[in-house]
Amino acid sequence: RVPWVDDKGEIQVNRGFRVQFNSAIGPYKGGLRFHPSVNLSIIKFLGFEQIFKNSLTGLPIGGGKGGYDFDPKGKSDNEIMKFCQSFMTELYRHIGPNVDVPAGDIGVGGREIGYLYGQYKRIRNANDQGVLTGKGLTYGGSLARTQATGFGIIYFVEEMLKEAGKTINGQTVVISGAGNVAIYAVKKAQELGAKVVAMCDSSGYIFDEDGIDLPLVQQIKEIERKRIKEYAVRKPSAKYFEGNKGIWTVKADVVIPCATQNEIDLNDAKIIVENGTFAVGEGANMPCTNEAEQYFLEKGILLAPSKAANAGGVATSALEMTQNSMRLSWSFEEVDEKLHGIMVNIFKNTRDAAKEYGFEGNYLVGANIAGFIKVADAMMAQGIV
Ligand code: NDP
Repeated sequence: RVPWVDDKGEIQVNRGFRVQFNSAIGPYKGGLRFHPSVNLSIIKFLGFEQIFKNSLTGLPIGGGKGGYDFDPKGKSDNEIMKFCQSFMTELYRHIGPNVDVPAGDIGVGGREIGYLYGQYKRIRNANDQGVLTGKGLTYGGSLARTQATGFGIIYFVEEMLKEAGKTINGQTVVISGAGNVAIYAVKKAQELGAKVVAMCDSSGYIFDEDGIDLPLVQQIKEIERKRIKEYAVRKPSAKYFEGNKGIWTVKADVVIPCATQNEIDLNDAKIIVENGTFAVGEGANMPCTNEAEQYFLEKGILLAPSKAANAGGVATSALEMTQNSMRLSWSFEEVDEKLHGIMVNIFKNTRDAAKEYGFEGNYLVGANIAGFIKVADAMMAQGIV
């Protein structure tokens, strides 16, 4: 129960959760989500997926997830600080650098992590920097953590395309969302020569035939914290369309959903296939419904599953924990190079597990098997505990 007082002096009460799912290979690790849709069921599915994702990274991190059924939209900085402080006042007793290490997720970025960390430090009276990841660079954050999930997705997709004799260079790409993951997926895709033509938020999508102007998106979303609609007001070549489904009608070679769970259902999948898309990279957690995933596989679409493709964020969080323990900071290039190596490895392990168990080319099954085996082995080795 998370009580706080809003700017009008009224008392608000929200419900917070932290699900500690499995610690066989390391401390519980997984993000915190602030969104009105948050409930125990959503946090549990995310925590369950997180176990196998974290295992795939090859780093010593267990699986957990948390959240808060609070809508941060339209709240002042003061209100955000108040609810972060109240949330941490309860959460602090359940977490710690060797116990459980939360990070950001939907609605939780650098600002929120800062307020959460400040309150943790105040209560504990200790500089346990490794208790949270996604911290600011002035107090223990890692360079490249902000970019890591988005960059990692594109590194994984590029490996998957290379395996099929293709590359992302020159492809037309649609990336849904306009948050942390989407923005840095667009950045890396553009750096590797792709043309990204559409992005969205939960109100509607923008289509820009000239290719997305990312600094303009960042100005609107990261600095002004406005809606994506604003992009079309400022960019003459762009159009804005209301509704969060239309983005899947945009023709693209590669589609990368980076907004939220279940954003692509069977109907959307059919439209995407009809449009000639040959690869789908799941940037958000489980953005395709089971039916949509199966449809893509039946139609021979290359599918990068979220627990493998978006593992770069948590992998870099684990690198942040390493730097905190060493009391050192690595350069951007050093962290990015490690991230790249980790994503290439995740792809190889996923591909090889699929092949070994008779599912060649099915990266969905490959990621599940590769992630599961390590956790199961560690649990069995540790006995009945
Ligand atoms: P953000 O809150 O930064 O951004 C989420 C974006 O998705 C916003 O633009 C939001 O728009 C949009 N969105 C939310 N719901 C919908 C919807 N129903 N239809 C269309 N757009 C929608 O979150 P992140 O970028 O951090 O996370 C995105 C996804 O990636 C989540 O599934 C998350 O679990 C996953 N992920 C994140 C990681 C990270 O490091 N941040 C790591 C691994 C996975 P609006 O502003 O309108 O709500």
